[in-house]
Amino acid sequence: MEKGQISVQTENIFPIIKKFLYSDQEIFLRELISNAVDATTKIKTLASKGEFKGEIGDTTIDIILDKEAKTLTIRDRGIGMSEAEVKKYLNQVAFSSAESFLKKYQDDAHIIGHFGLGFYSAFMVADQVEVDTKSYKKSAKAVKWICDGNPEYEIGKGERKERGTDIILHISDDSTEFLEKNRIQSLLDKYSKFLPIPIRFGTKTTTEWEGEGDDRKSKEVEEDNIINNTAPLWKKKASKLKEEDYQKFYKELYPMSQDPLFWIHLDIDFPFKLTGVLYFPKLNNNLEIQRNKIQLYSNQVYVTDDVKEIVPEFLLLLHGVIDSPDIPLNVSRSYLQSDSNVRKITSYITKKVADKLKQLYKKDKEGFESKWDDVGTFVKYGMISDEKFYKKADAFCLLKNTDGDMFLYDDYIEKIKANQTDKHERTVLLYANNEHDQHAYIESAKATGYDVLLMNNIIDNHFMQQMESKKDKITFVRVDSDTVDKLVQKDEEAISALSEKEEEKVKTLFVDSLGELRGGQIELRPLSTTDHPVLITRPEFMRRMKEMQQMQGMNLEDMPDSHNVVINTNHELIASKLLKMKSGDKKERFAKYLYDLARLNQNMLKGEQLNNFIKSSIEFLK
Ligand code: ADP
Repeated sequence: MEKGQISVQTENIFPIIKKFLYSDQEIFLRELISNAVDATTKIKTLASKGEFKGEIGDTTIDIILDKEAKTLTIRDRGIGMSEAEVKKYLNQVAFSSAESFLKKYQDDAHIIGHFGLGFYSAFMVADQVEVDTKSYKKSAKAVKWICDGNPEYEIGKGERKERGTDIILHISDDSTEFLEKNRIQSLLDKYSKFLPIPIRFGTKTTTEWEGEGDDRKSKEVEEDNIINNTAPLWKKKASKLKEEDYQKFYKELYPMSQDPLFWIHLDIDFPFKLTGVLYFPKLNNNLEIQRNKIQLYSNQVYVTDDVKEIVPEFLLLLHGVIDSPDIPLNVSRSYLQSDSNVRKITSYITKKVADKLKQLYKKDKEGFESKWDDVGTFVKYGMISDEKFYKKADAFCLLKNTDGDMFLYDDYIEKIKANQTDKHERTVLLYANNEHDQHAYIESAKATGYDVLLMNNIIDNHFMQQMESKKDKITFVRVDSDTVDKLVQKDEEAISALSEKEEEKVKTLFVDSLGELRGGQIELRPLSTTDHPVLITRPEFMRRMKEMQQMQGMNLEDMPDSHNVVINTNHELIASKLLKMKSGDKKERFAKYLYDLARLNQNMLKGEQLNNFIKSSIEFLK
């Protein structure tokens, strides 16, 4: 064996490699397998060009674990290396690229994917690395290279009989986890699941059934443990794939998930290369738990599942795979954000998603509508957070009313404009956010001829604000924010059944009976005789203020639950019954009772108050 010295510029580079990215040491396996895949792809390319005329043979890459010898071997049947190549590639190229990589990123561990450390990442887990390699070239001899994790190396005669390379890692004592079968299996699953060359990790036993009926027997069979799918779905042409193929692949990626709603197959060549499949998951009105489900690959090698620099925020709700050799991987995150190619990728994906949604809606309105509860969350989130997406979304963003009918925004405005435009020329979009709690208000709005939207999505408050600021002359008003006659403010004044003096009497009576309302007022209004005698309203402005403060995490103890009490002067219980009562005491109890009924209607009576109300109802009935 001949000894040599790797020319080092940085002293102590090996200890640095060892410590570098301590938490991500596991990437060594990905790096070494990637090299094996590259070497294999190269021999195939040479063969296809006629430059290599020998047998290609079985090119399966083997991962061999020998716990006793404390070694992990990566074996390929690729192009191999001659002695000169070993000296050039391992001593110089690989070493200096690892060195410059380390120099550049020593202080910035947030490198996407950590690609670039290459061959020398082996020293993160091994205290000796042996390379036994034989070039594909005729008359090439096997070469062995050994390095102990310091700049000295030995080179000499190798043992390999066939073309290809063995990388033998002598795992160091503080990295023995990489001698565990399960650990290696899970790393292979994580990083190598979709590599284009078959990778074998020992064998596995499966159960096979033979014979029929009573003669049926099971048999244990040993077979190769191939850990990867060499032709993943996203690399295939969309025109060749069926719906089941996409469903099956989704299950392969996320075994425990519900079926996806639909998907988009990405395939682009220019100005960058990118392929992938993005799935729309069932969101179940939940924006939080779904993130970090998109996996980034580079030529089928797993890079990361943290893609927030590459994918617009709202698209992080999607699931699936993006594969692009053009996303620079050995750069820091901040660099990535300012990279113009990456920004192009971002806007390309946004555009593709918008186009797909538009097409889905056009092609199958009913199908799209049936998925709206999930898709809607996503679309609205996109409209709020991405201007470009917002502009495209008019073509597929739906508004759903309390009858379950759905409309595109423009169509909806057309439908309600005549009836729901107020004296300031603003079109009022009435909405409810809880069909049950606001039932009475919805019914009375509908009876007046209004349409009521259902806005019960977690992001609807934001969404409505966004629409109000973007669209011309519209306003959203919740059905319980005022009495139905005032929801859409028009000029007409209804006539009260009471004289001014009588109204004064009624008002004083209620003010005295109810005491001071925290933050609200008592008002008299000539509503319809079929409306309730007393109503609670929550003024839109005050309620929104409160909701905003709540979202900012403010303490609401000081904010009164502001609601107004509206007394319907046209209702017979007010106009005749109450006014005709003789006893002051009885009048007061009656007023309180009507107020409690109104509160009950708003789900405001709880605990002791509810109990008292029921008791007094029973008294009443006696
Ligand atoms: P990179 O793969 O980015 O070029 P590496 O440090 O991983 O950098 O490897 C340096 C070089 O060593 C490779 O470019 C290749 O020429 C050679 N090499 C590494 N592993 C193998 C292998 N398994 N078979 C053949 N050549 C290899």
